[in-house]
Amino acid sequence: NTSIAEFDPELSAAMEAEKQRQEHHIELIASENYCSPRVLEAQGSQLTNKYAEGYPGKRYYGGCEHVDVAEELAIERAKQLFDADYANVQPHSGSQANTAVFMALINANDTVLGMSLADGGHLTHGSHVNFSGKTYNAVQYGLHPETGIIDYDNVEALALEHKPKLIIGGFSAYSGIVDWARFRQIADKVGAYLLVDMAHVAGLVAAGIYPSPIPHAHVVTTTTHKTLAGPRGGLILSACGDETLYKKFNSSVFPGNQGGPLCHVIAAKAVAFKEALSDDFKTYQQQVLINAKAMCSVLQSRGYKVVSNGTENHLFLLDLIDKDITGKDADAALGNANITVNKNSVPNDPRSPFVTSGLRIGTPAITRRGFSETEAKQVANWICDVLDNIDNQEVIDSVKSQVVSLCEKFPVYS
Ligand code: PLP
Repeated sequence: NTSIAEFDPELSAAMEAEKQRQEHHIELIASENYCSPRVLEAQGSQLTNKYAEGYPGKRYYGGCEHVDVAEELAIERAKQLFDADYANVQPHSGSQANTAVFMALINANDTVLGMSLADGGHLTHGSHVNFSGKTYNAVQYGLHPETGIIDYDNVEALALEHKPKLIIGGFSAYSGIVDWARFRQIADKVGAYLLVDMAHVAGLVAAGIYPSPIPHAHVVTTTTHKTLAGPRGGLILSACGDETLYKKFNSSVFPGNQGGPLCHVIAAKAVAFKEALSDDFKTYQQQVLINAKAMCSVLQSRGYKVVSNGTENHLFLLDLIDKDITGKDADAALGNANITVNKNSVPNDPRSPFVTSGLRIGTPAITRRGFSETEAKQVANWICDVLDNIDNQEVIDSVKSQVVSLCEKFPVYS
């Protein structure tokens, strides 16, 4: 039983290089975070060996008494964290949580209304390349072209016109506060279910610094690995009080969409939810927001446009349309300075989704490694230095060496 390093040096080298990349790059991808060593410990545990189809106390396999405890802990903590009375911790991913909810609530070819990918929605909210757009009749809403805020009047008009069975709120790239109550009013007006996918803001919601969709939506889905800082996975929550719906969600996850749950990941979710119940986690999320706002103000003061004119959460979009820099080139230049971001379409983007005129920037990961407002502002200034001098290798090299020394002061897994 040799280590990976001895048994498989080729793989080991890639794993070690990724570890070093995470330590020595400034991670600004809004959907990423660093989970705790405890979460890593649970994920690397023997619980991965166990088959446990079914739910605690009602399994199709023997020997589930200990994984039952782990799953019950995860369920109870998720309910406590989000003030919900139903939780399913088994979805393998955010997309699978959404698939399960769609299949529980509506039938193929029914109409769904979700935010378009181009405006900040997720693939699973009705994109034509995804199951949600292929299986269902997807109608898409977006942002108001002038304000960059969700165009609620348009959402309502589309709902009245198309009579969707399911309306999806939530986003992958939106820096505002969503009016969940307004979404519920619209859903009630047309007799639709409201699903809120809070994957991006779940950590902020858990900490009470972003409005919770739980009281408004029939059902809420999330990933557990973004602002929530847990293992990669999905979660379904509800406080709608309808036991029949809860049963439908459970059977839609298993046996509807999945076989055996990932018991090791469920244990890691239990750890992450316990961490998220702490006061330290609240302080962390407050700092995430402070850092995002601090970065925005530096970028704006140096002449860069921010979509929706700022941020109320952990992310924002930089609009480069009038800068003559593509999102793709900006992403690559920052990458050369060890600053990791992702190119992103912005409202009214004249360029293709492969090129784009924007960047999505988020602060969950830098805040998790300990960056405060001072470091966040420094990072924003480095971003401006690189973008102002996109063809100047000397500037890029100088930023890179400063990035590496800052990263060394704030190790992720020391
Ligand atoms: N929902 C939203 C809003 C997301 O942003 C994402 C991922 O980025 C997902 C769902 C999908 O999660 P996963 O990648 O775990 O399938």
